Amino acid sequence: MTPPSRVVIVGGTHGNEWTGIQVVRHYQETIKKKFPKLEIEFILANPQAHELNCRYKDEDLNRAFEFLDQKRNSYEHKRAHEIKMQIQSSPCLVIDLHTTTANMGNTVIISHYNSLNLSLCEKLAQQFKDFRVIGAPDPKKKYLASQSDYGVILEIGPVANGVVAAVPLESTLQLIDCILGLLDGQNLPAQGSVEVYEEAQDIHYPKNEKGELNGYIHSEFQGKDFKVLEGEYLPFKTFNGEDLQLQTSEKFYPIFINEAAYYRSSLAFTLCRKKTLKF
Ligand SMILES: [Zn+2]
Repeated sequence: MTPPSRVVIVGGTHGNEWTGIQVVRHYQETIKKKFPKLEIEFILANPQAHELNCRYKDEDLNRAFEFLDQKRNSYEHKRAHEIKMQIQSSPCLVIDLHTTTANMGNTVIISHYNSLNLSLCEKLAQQFKDFRVIGAPDPKKKYLASQSDYGVILEIGPVANGVVAAVPLESTLQLIDCILGLLDGQNLPAQGSVEVYEEAQDIHYPKNEKGELNGYIHSEFQGKDFKVLEGEYLPFKTFNGEDLQLQTSEKFYPIFINEAAYYRSSLAFTLCRKKTLKF
């Protein structure tokens, strides 16, 4: 396997996730200088949403790629076209920089299970603490990073939206540095295995009879992303003080607990199954 020597690093796919935006604005030259053999491009994906300090202006850019064959007038639809053209102009690895308000540590999401993506993840898992891989197969190619076969989404957290914080920023820079170092040195294992978490079930917030939010993530559950659940667990407390228990039928691992962007769809967290992928 010869990994591509072209890399596209994308920040600000979500305009209120400031970490990736600072990487694109302030670290381009440092990164390019360190890896002169690689052809590295940077994209500030959604500048208008960043101006507004919002996740998006008209629609979520990281879902807009699914609808490129439709006629739409949204700003993100136009940006998705432009970004896809740039990514697909020649083979490349895409690194799409995101953050989350959930306690996800150093998480990487891959949507294509090929040996390059998996071998990168195996190496990162050896080198980073608090590191996990979410496997999110994306047959409709709705995610920006799926526009190339070779792509990873970084989801670093916890950090509030609209905030630059040292740990997530520096972790993001270290992950980029490690990925580029592996591509540059062609230092990737030909075979191996990676533990991945695959989404199995969405859990929504409790609602009252008017359809309003009627509870919040329990203090015992907050921050417990990727901690195994089996049988009864306590994810919610209602606003009238009641503990709300739930039950799992098998071993699950919760992710994106209390992610700010998902209140809009009442999504409180997602349960994953863990499995090992060989390559
Ligand atoms: Zn994001």
